[in-house]
Amino acid sequence: KRKREDEDLDSLNQRVQDINVKEIEYETFASLPLSQPTADGLHASHFKTLTDIQKKAIPLTLKGTDILGAAKTGSGKTLAFLIPVLENLYRRRWTELDGLGALILSPTRELAIQIFEVLRKIGRYHTFSAGLVIGGKSLQEERERLGRMNILVCTPGRMLQHMDQTAAFETDTLQMLVLDEADRIMDMGFQSTVDAIVEHLPKERQTLLFSATQTKKVSDLARLSLRDPEYVSVHEAA
Ligand code: ADP
Ligand code: MG
Repeated sequence: KRKREDEDLDSLNQRVQDINVKEIEYETFASLPLSQPTADGLHASHFKTLTDIQKKAIPLTLKGTDILGAAKTGSGKTLAFLIPVLENLYRRRWTELDGLGALILSPTRELAIQIFEVLRKIGRYHTFSAGLVIGGKSLQEERERLGRMNILVCTPGRMLQHMDQTAAFETDTLQMLVLDEADRIMDMGFQSTVDAIVEHLPKERQTLLFSATQTKKVSDLARLSLRDPEYVSVHEAA
């Protein structure tokens, strides 16, 4: 069984490497090089064709590129970062024992909960552990679960509180950082909080930054947190 899995993963890695981000347009999730658990999760959630921002962002992010993705509310940005999070950890054979693999920052508790629900839906056939860190529970209660999580969805203030106060919270295994609704994160005054969080994280990582609007504050944040990023944006047809 092991050998078969190795071969499957090798062939998936090869197909991701072969993605041509310049020419090929992936219209359907079935045409993308995705793992079976993700493909099954998308199918079970009735997602078939990619939205425009997903078409532009997912091929790049699967290959490990940092991106700044801008597209209006409702354009499907959540899957544009959740799919690469699941896939890039899966292809690294990430397991419960490997610690924190991805951190997703969202400006509000409500939005964090929405992201978490989508993650549970499309990630249902994966074995990753995932948690919400948005306050509302005691710090101690959250703290006990933190160390066992592979993927965390959190609000900036609560995350920084744990980084500062939870001694056993290890972030040096982190592979991916996602900043969702970066414009709102900035508008809500979280700039220094996000800067401090990024300070705690390994420099060697992939960062995905998504925003509904392109503002000066967002490009400042991008400059600080992204490395050789691709800028992808979707404009409304006139
Ligand atoms: P955004 O974060 O850009 O505001 P969301 O990720 O919340 O957008 O998605 C908006 C809506 O579009 C959600 O109801 C989501 O389920 C739906 N959606 C996202 N991607 C697809 C897709 N590829 N096919 C069909 N519906 C989708
Ligand atoms: Mg969103």
